[in-house]
Formats: sequence, structure tokens, C-alpha cells
Amino acid sequence: MFNVEERAMLRGRIAQRAVVQDRGFETECWISTRASQPNGYTKIGYRGRTWLTHRLSWSVHREPIPDDLVIDHLCRERACVNPDHLEPVSNRTNLLRGAGFVASQAKQSTCLRGHPLEGDNLYRPPARPNKRECRTCRIEATRRSKERAATRPTG
Ligand SMILES: [Zn+2]
Ligand SMILES: [Zn+2]
Repeated sequence: MFNVEERAMLRGRIAQRAVVQDRGFETECWISTRASQPNGYTKIGYRGRTWLTHRLSWSVHREPIPDDLVIDHLCRERACVNPDHLEPVSNRTNLLRGAGFVASQAKQSTCLRGHPLEGDNLYRPPARPNKRECRTCRIEATRRSKERAATRPTG
């Protein structure tokens, strides 16, 4: 559905208008700040049509979504666009499993900025060992808050 360049560009557009928030799930939610529908799902315009941001996120981070599948939020946050918190579901699950659909969804966990959530970059807060956070983004956030503190006018 999308070529490699489009996927990269759309991942960037989704990240640009999303904030990382800890909503109590295993990893942080990527809450889309785009206009939302009354049902809580957010929208994004591309190629002259309107897409549901979470569905588009799944498509560009994972793979195209067959029309008869709905994307379920494991974290129950409808504005969340973190592909790790999304799961395609349908009544035809068994059929699709037979077609290798599930096998092809091999986890490619990354943070909102695309850093891998594995190896040295995976941070597990001691107080919440089940949580998985991005070490690079943590360091970056600490650095930025220090910078802000340093440049804050005094007196
Ligand atoms: Zn989420
Ligand atoms: Zn990161």
C-alpha cells in the first residue's frame, strides 16, 4: 500500500503530532494530539483522504491492514498510536493465522522516535520492572530539562 519512503515519512508525521505518556501500560503510550472524532479516535489526512491515525500507524510500522480487520487497543487509549499497543483482530483470526498473517507481525518494538526497545537501549525502571522504556529518549529528556533549568531567567 505504501512504499518505503512513504512509510518513513508517515512515521515521522505521526510522531510529530504525538506525545509520549505513561498511562500505566507496559510501555508508554504515544498519544496522538491530532483532531479526534467523538469516539476518541484521531484522524490524519493523506493522499486526499482521511485515515484513522492508529490504523495508519499500524500500516506504516507493521503492515497493511486487510479491510475486514479492526485494530484493537491493548492499552484502551483510543488516541494511542503506539503499534506495540495495537492488535488487529477479527472473527477470521484462525483463517488469517493459517495464511501466516500473525507470523509476519514479528515484534519490531521501537520508541516514538524509532529507537529500538531492546538490548542496551532498553531501560526497565527498577520500581516497575515490567515497564520498557527508551534509554536514548530518557537521556535526551534529562538533558533538555537540565538545559531548560540552566536557561531559566533568575531573579
Ligand atoms: Zn497505548
Ligand atoms: Zn527513543
